[in-house]
Formats: sequence, structure tokens, C-alpha cells
Amino acid sequence: MTYEEARNYFKEKDLAILPIGSVEQHGKQNPLGTDYLIAYRLALEAAKKTEIITLPPIPFGISSHHRHFPGTIYISEAHFKDYVRDVCLSLKRHGVRKILVINGHGGNLCSLMSLARELKREGLLVIIFQWWTIPELAQYFKESERGHAAAMETSLIAFLYPDLVNLEKAVDEQPRSILGNLPVYFPGDTKDYTVSGVFGVSSTANLARGEKVFEIVLAKIVGIIEKLKSINVKDLCSRD
Ligand SMILES: [Zn+2]
Repeated sequence: MTYEEARNYFKEKDLAILPIGSVEQHGKQNPLGTDYLIAYRLALEAAKKTEIITLPPIPFGISSHHRHFPGTIYISEAHFKDYVRDVCLSLKRHGVRKILVINGHGGNLCSLMSLARELKREGLLVIIFQWWTIPELAQYFKESERGHAAAMETSLIAFLYPDLVNLEKAVDEQPRSILGNLPVYFPGDTKDYTVSGVFGVSSTANLARGEKVFEIVLAKIVGIIEKLKSINVKDLCSRD
């Protein structure tokens, strides 16, 4: 997009998509960039279907818990939040009032929600979507297949980027239980739970299953965007 095209877009529309991910280990079968690659591809396909623009992806996120695995790049929460804030405020200056963040990495969520609350007070509505949270996906993948780098995520990245995935290296590993089922949040690192980096069953991944995930997720994103188009931000955001 050129700046003239951008000017015309912002004259007519106040909504944009921002894909965000991470660069972190995803088992031996998947690329380090899995989370941002998935988020970007979902954003591109949804953008085409809805005539809404997507920004380039922010590839790095909050991944210090994966730091013991080679290639993991991790950003502090303060820097991450400030960086995303600056991107959002740049968009606001050009007339954007609604941003759909397609977040490919759950570790980013706390910071993104904190930022979204702050920006709402500035008159900017930031909505966050995480593809793996769609309830329908549970019909197609067991709980053990829905963990980090497990069959659901591996199938999706394999379908979207077959050249980057080596399904022969997919393994199954039951994550170690540290505190049992106690109702607490434990600040664990990935190496506390797994050796391979996979949480659960990944050997059942395949491209056909990934295509199903892609269809379900894309339809959901399109529905979210159509809904967002009709929302009046002034009704929701105020400087109070
Ligand atoms: Zn991931």
C-alpha cells in the first residue's frame, strides 16, 4: 500500500487488523515463528474477505518462559506494551478507531489486555482474538491435542506453510505436573514441564486437519470484523 492508498483507506474506514505473535520454540517439527506466521496469514486472508487492511505482523512477544530453547526471542512486558501502544496510536492519528489484534501467542494476552483498557480511555477500541479459543475446535481435537505445539497448532501451521514443518519430527509428551491440580497460577518455564517443547500429542497432526482449523478460524474472524464494522466507538470509549 502506498501512502495515497492509505489516505484513501483511512478516509473511508476506521478499522484495521494487527497481527502479533512470537518467536519461540514450537517443538522439533515447527518453525520458531509459528505464532506470528499463523497470525499474519489469518490476518491476510481475513483482510481479503472483508476489505479491511492488515498491518505487517509484530513478530516478537513475551516468551521468556521458552528462553532455554535455542532461537527463542523474548521482549520485556514493558517494551512490548509500549511498542504495541505506539503502533496503535500511529493508527489512531490516521483515523483508525478500532483495531482487531490477531494474537498468535497466549503469553502476550495479559499485556495486550492491559493496553487495551488504557487505549479504550483514549478513544481507541482494541479487540483481541486468539484463534485456539474457539469452542468448535474441541469437536475436532482432544484436549491433549490442543496444547502448545500439539496437533491442533501443528496441523494449522503445516497446512498454511507446508515447507516449514517436518511432521516426521512430531512427538507426544505429557507435560509434567508440578503442583498437581491445585487452583494456583505457577510461574513455570517450559523446561519445567517438557523436554521436547511439545505440550501433549502432536503426532496426530496432518494438513487436512489443519485445513479444517483454518476454515473454522477464518469464518470466525470474518464474523468478528463484520460485527466490528457496525460498532460505534463513541458509544463505548470515553475519556473518563
Ligand atoms: Zn504457538
